[in-house]
Amino acid sequence: MKHSNIAIFVPHVGCPNMCSFCNQHSISGEEDLPTAEKVAQICEQAMREVANKGNTEIAFFGGSFTAIERGYMLELLRSASKFVGKDGFKGIRISTRPDYIDEEVLELLKSYGVTAIELGAQSMIDEVLLANNRGHCAEDVVNASRLIKKHGFELGLQMMVGLYKSTTEFEYETMSKVAELKPETVRIYPVVVLNGTRLAELYKKGEYKLYSFDEVIKICADMLCFFEDIGIKVIRMGLHASETVELGIVAGFYHPAFKEIVESRIYRNKIEDIINKSSKDCYNIYVNAGSISKALGHKKSNIVYFREKGIYVSIKSDSMLKKYECKLEDWYQCI
Ligand code: SF4
Repeated sequence: MKHSNIAIFVPHVGCPNMCSFCNQHSISGEEDLPTAEKVAQICEQAMREVANKGNTEIAFFGGSFTAIERGYMLELLRSASKFVGKDGFKGIRISTRPDYIDEEVLELLKSYGVTAIELGAQSMIDEVLLANNRGHCAEDVVNASRLIKKHGFELGLQMMVGLYKSTTEFEYETMSKVAELKPETVRIYPVVVLNGTRLAELYKKGEYKLYSFDEVIKICADMLCFFEDIGIKVIRMGLHASETVELGIVAGFYHPAFKEIVESRIYRNKIEDIINKSSKDCYNIYVNAGSISKALGHKKSNIVYFREKGIYVSIKSDSMLKKYECKLEDWYQCI
């Protein structure tokens, strides 16, 4: 059954950092912080509206949950924990920084019903972490991940593609190192350069060059295939609209259908592999019934891509096929 979250945004007031890509220091203020009463109100409403409670988590997203002032963190947890357990929600999900995880805080989180912890790893390359002012190193991610798993939480890792000073080699190295930590879930965020950030300054000065959109789609398609093949769920690709619109996007890889574009690229690659083994110019390709729009591509981009090469591809459905599986029918049946 499908998992869902009741998202509660906790902007990170008093964050010790100023990461190159983050604009939270500009958008957070006391007035944006949820109170314990507000948390209770959100959960009460969700209790009335959500049918599938056993598969729903209360999710504190935003900044670095375990780095906020301890008394306030406990108030929020106390309030949320009343709605967890028998007849309530599955658990509580939080996101935080790797250098704000230790045995003591994990015990505390467990006692309030936290079930899943997502760490902002962003990169597993120290040079990239330093250049983007993350304030922690790759080893912090490794240590925190091990502790989280040792304490029986579900581990989620968030990574970014296209950070300042990163290279395609570093992107793939980060992907492999993230997989070695065996997270249950991964989120992949291609960089979106937001107004008021250090990245925006570097970009405007010409010191920070972004990948092309095509390059970033290729990297993300490789990552999605890689993680799914080894059983790691990619639960998000690309920023939500709400996170980007407030201060405006200067540059980068924002698209409301980012994951769909990445999945379309996976289909394009698979179809191309099939076509490359043949020398015809007209093909019927069968895909899983639920994947036809992805195989066609965003605004039929895959069909257009092949047509520009003089190849006519027609996409048809076969319910026996698995996700990303493509089957070729002989050219003479193509209409
Ligand atoms: S990304 Fe997180 S750790 Fe970095 S400045 Fe923003 S809130 Fe702080």
